[in-house]
Amino acid sequence: MTETVNFDNLGLAPELLKALAESGYTTPTPIQLQGIPVALAGGDLMAGAQTGTGKTAAFALPLLQKLLPLASSSTSPAKHPVRALILTPTRELAIQVEESVKAYAKHTQLRSLVVYGGVDIRTQTPHLKTGVEVLVATPGRLLDHIEQKTLQLNQVQMLVLDEADRMLDMGFMPDLRRILALLPKKRQNLMFSATFSNEIKKLADEFLTNPQLIEVARSNATNDNVTQKVYQVAQSDKETLLIQLLKQADAKQVIIFTKTKITASRLSRSLMKEGINADAIHGDKSQQERIKALDAFKAGTVTALVATDVAARGLDISELPMVINYEIPSAPEDYVHRIGRTGRAGALGVAISFVSDDEEKYLLEIEKLIKRQIPKETIALNKPTQRARPATGTKTSYQDKTQDAAPARRPAKQKSSDPWFDKPYEPSTEKTPLPNRISSGKKKPVAVLLGGLPINK
Ligand code: AMP
Repeated sequence: MTETVNFDNLGLAPELLKALAESGYTTPTPIQLQGIPVALAGGDLMAGAQTGTGKTAAFALPLLQKLLPLASSSTSPAKHPVRALILTPTRELAIQVEESVKAYAKHTQLRSLVVYGGVDIRTQTPHLKTGVEVLVATPGRLLDHIEQKTLQLNQVQMLVLDEADRMLDMGFMPDLRRILALLPKKRQNLMFSATFSNEIKKLADEFLTNPQLIEVARSNATNDNVTQKVYQVAQSDKETLLIQLLKQADAKQVIIFTKTKITASRLSRSLMKEGINADAIHGDKSQQERIKALDAFKAGTVTALVATDVAARGLDISELPMVINYEIPSAPEDYVHRIGRTGRAGALGVAISFVSDDEEKYLLEIEKLIKRQIPKETIALNKPTQRARPATGTKTSYQDKTQDAAPARRPAKQKSSDPWFDKPYEPSTEKTPLPNRISSGKKKPVAVLLGGLPINK
């Protein structure tokens, strides 16, 4: 009989435990269970954790705990130097990470702040000048502040590189090198990445000292809570298919991924014309527009959010039921990141990919990376003359765990190949709550839901 592992057993301070309880967390997730002790012990960490595994708390909690003895109630900025720096690839992720840090630090005197590009730098400077212990930043804006001498990094003792794979993909390596050269040599480094490419390993060699490696899911694996499927469809039929799916599914929250900003904007306009409340989120939109679209999506006034990869990175929308890849990504890692938007923290999700002939090669790359075949399905288009091509995929090795999963072959006559589309999506708040920080009441331990460590009472 093993002991139930909860947050108390991890040796966290009462101030942090109180905040966790208020956030509704009862049981640590696997990455928290494994990562927190390593980070508390002071060593470097290289963690392979997919998005939605609870990785933010896995680095934020030990970081806060280690800074607690240095917390000060003084109003003097000198008493609040930046001691922990968290770098993220996107503004959205930076905002979300800092929200979490703030929530966990609410019963401490530690201060946190987020700085990111796309907004007037002058609005951030006064906040920086008051002094903050934990700074969450995107690399470019951090360098801007350093250039303007509004920020000093010579007291940094902990560095977190969050979603490091995406930072490399986005070309942040030169910025990272410049930032790291400004930090004290003696510091603790925690690196998190959803995928482990050779480049990531090189980055770890360069920046980490004898890191302990932790992996909570097989590297480059995709979440088992997510039912994945492919519709083989001509590029010219994709829009019709999408509208059909969205109308049938009566989906309240769907993220639709496109490769380009232009397609994202065009598609969102087309959906609006069809009476579907849609908005686009991509790099050409201002930060205010992106936040507005995201808030509307979270509130349910926008039901279909069309996004490019960069813009969608880091979005944490609890219990998002569906992701649609209108165009599948040419970089297979992006597929893992995209479908990580659904099936978070143990919830179930559906990830549908539209694949045209030209995209077959990318699909093969994705299947190679995730080491499984994605079932191919057919769906009849509601057009008199045009139909999505019948699936060429036969039996697959993919073991679908959900009950409503459709078989790989379906007669094309059927209205919908998946019963999921025939029943309306009910927001989970009205049903049994799944673990997330805002829901209250009785929960299933998230670690169990995430298929994590065995926990015996
Ligand atoms: P992350 O992977 O850090 O983006 O976290 C994914 C989601 O899981 C967020 O909504 C967190 O608030 C939630 N979460 C993280 N840790 C726990 C936990 N131990 N119990 C319940 N929910 C959690």
